[in-house]
Amino acid sequence: MTRIVVVGAGQAGIGVAEALRTTGSSAEITVIGGEEHLPYERPPLSKEMLLGKATVDDLRLRSADWYRTHAVDLRLSTWVERIDRQGRTVVLADQAPLGYDHLVLATGSRPRRLPVPGADLDGVLNLATPSDSLELRHRLSRAGSVVVVGAGFIGLEVAAAATTMGLRPVVVELADRVLARVAGPVLSDHVAARHADRGVDLRLGTGVVELRGADGRVTHVVLSTGEVLPADLVVVGVGSVPSDGLAVDAGLDCADGVLVDPTLRTSDPAVSAIGDCARFPLGGQPTRLESVQNAADQARHVAARLSGDDSGAPYREVAWFWSTQSDLKLQMVGVPGAQDEEVVRGDPATGRFSVFRYSGGVLTCVESVNHAPGHLLGRRLLAAGRSPSREQAADPGFDLKAFAAAPAPVARAQQSAVTS
Ligand SMILES: Cc1cc2nc3c(=O)[nH]c(=O)nc-3n(C[C@H](O)[C@H](O)[C@H](O)COP(=O)(O)OP(=O)(O)OC[C@H]3O[C@@H](n4cnc5c(N)ncnc54)[C@H](O)[C@@H]3O)c2cc1C
Repeated sequence: MTRIVVVGAGQAGIGVAEALRTTGSSAEITVIGGEEHLPYERPPLSKEMLLGKATVDDLRLRSADWYRTHAVDLRLSTWVERIDRQGRTVVLADQAPLGYDHLVLATGSRPRRLPVPGADLDGVLNLATPSDSLELRHRLSRAGSVVVVGAGFIGLEVAAAATTMGLRPVVVELADRVLARVAGPVLSDHVAARHADRGVDLRLGTGVVELRGADGRVTHVVLSTGEVLPADLVVVGVGSVPSDGLAVDAGLDCADGVLVDPTLRTSDPAVSAIGDCARFPLGGQPTRLESVQNAADQARHVAARLSGDDSGAPYREVAWFWSTQSDLKLQMVGVPGAQDEEVVRGDPATGRFSVFRYSGGVLTCVESVNHAPGHLLGRRLLAAGRSPSREQAADPGFDLKAFAAAPAPVARAQQSAVTS
């Protein structure tokens, strides 16, 4: 029987196991995860769980029974220490080595640390696991002054939770607008204004140069402007780095992520890599995405290949992402370009609108604020390779749904969500 070993029991790793069973695979499947919890979804850690509306049990991807009934050997609290590619085995921390016919790396990513003095003081937190979320909630409930470093999705979600808990956090961001890496100026400005309305003090174009403390606990944040902010809690949301150490040590091609080909194979055909840890070709660029959609769709793609789909089809699902920040529900689909033209559909003053982004006259991306229909239309258009003109996109009376369904394919725009 074919032995498939998956390293990483997160969204991507469990997705492979599930998709393999759904396609009727009878392979022997082992999923190895370093964390102690039953596999769970991460997005609620900075949303429902941080607000006390969900526990880790509510976030389970599958029940404990599911793994038994689907003959998935799930090994939790178990770290893979090394891959022996010659012997086709993985070396585990406290167990006998495990042989594989195919290995799937789904090791995810981990928060980037703040590279400034004082980053290891007590009261400086990252957010990546359920215990981080519980700890952060606990500290927020006692904090007087909170500084969030980074105005990306996680930083802004934490800021939103902080305001809901009655705090007025300062958010410090090096770029000159929020969400600069993942969204266009129209969305950035709207989101920034809504956060400011709720009492968030945004410091854009500003860096953090030092964290100061007393008795080992953080007390102040020193900004690049020279200003010193009081802080008894600092939350760091400055991006993630791929967990590609196992792959690097095993001699697989890596470049800030495990490099894979269009079918998601690594430089060793017996090893695939998916999800946050993988860098795959997208629009000619090796790209790493951090999203549930990417992890889940890449898992299905690899499972189909391992179940016998030998078409060699490249992975090319339309990428999408969401973020919830108090009363803002943001959804984006596609790959934004650096110089995209923006076309607004709907009226931002109503708080419900979409931004259609164009590069060279071709639709690249749709960003929606509290506007699920716009997001779904964007998904349909990009999946169908249909690019309405800018005038059509801007005209609320133009039937984009019918346009998306009409059979007149154009060159498909490349898409992505959170890229790094
Ligand atoms: C706070 C937060 C909020 C987010 N919100 C959103 C959102 O709103 N929308 C969205 O689309 N995405 C969101 N994301 C991103 C999304 O959760 C990730 O893109 C997704 O979880 C990636 O899945 P993955 O399986 O690749 O990695 P992970 O889910 O990180 O799983 C990887 C697992 O591998 C384990 N592992 C690593 N190395 C080893 C080893 N050597 N041995 C054993 N196990 C190992 C890790 O411990 C981890 O459990 C959020 C992420 C965070 C942290």
